[in-house]
Amino acid sequence: MRVRHKPWAKSKLNQHSNLVVQSPKDHNGEWHDVFHREAPLHVEIGTGKGRFLTGMAKKYPDVNFVGIELHESVIVTALQRCLDEGLDNVRLINEDARGLTEFFAEDEVDALYLNFCDPWPKNRHEKRRLTYSAFLAQYEYVLKKGGILNFKTDNQGLFEYSLESFSKYGFILQNISLDLHHAKMKDNVVTEYEEKFAEKGQKIYRCEAISSE
Ligand code: SAM
Repeated sequence: MRVRHKPWAKSKLNQHSNLVVQSPKDHNGEWHDVFHREAPLHVEIGTGKGRFLTGMAKKYPDVNFVGIELHESVIVTALQRCLDEGLDNVRLINEDARGLTEFFAEDEVDALYLNFCDPWPKNRHEKRRLTYSAFLAQYEYVLKKGGILNFKTDNQGLFEYSLESFSKYGFILQNISLDLHHAKMKDNVVTEYEEKFAEKGQKIYRCEAISSE
């Protein structure tokens, strides 16, 4: 993904340290304190510009949402969305999601969302896919037993790979859709990439993988 550099992004993120959590490791096991309330905790990996995250936060005010995004020039748009909407049930982490198990304690997270992550189609790049087994180990660790990893992609190859990867790892699969936008799924909150792909007529694949441990 090409990212347009915004030299002012870092200072804007720092100005809003109430929303952009500066040292997420310090809150491991205690995210309810960050939100000043006990509520289910849902985490999106690779939040991008935050359309999905803020849409979900508006729709489900009784859930605490955290979005993790690597690029400051991208997450700064998610921050602006939170500010514009006045959302108090969202926090942002500007870090690599590889740190997931440092940010969250075992069984702390009720649901994870992984939307339109990079497919890394070459075999030699398998370990970079966010549905590679090393990432699944982290997801399983932070998810409660019965917690759901919600996955959407436009990429058939990545979807097939991920179904196998989830299944091999012991996740239980449910609600698999091979064409989400024609499946009339209620309550689908669309992401930026999803809108772009769907407008081009591409199919959207979706599944839920349930943590069994
Ligand atoms: N989820 C958004 C959507 O559906 O519109 C954005 C999809 S975009 C293709 C993937 C996003 O994941 C990018 O913004 C990228 O910076 C972020 N990303 C990729 N690897 C990441 C990682 N290891 N940790 C955090 N964010 C990551």
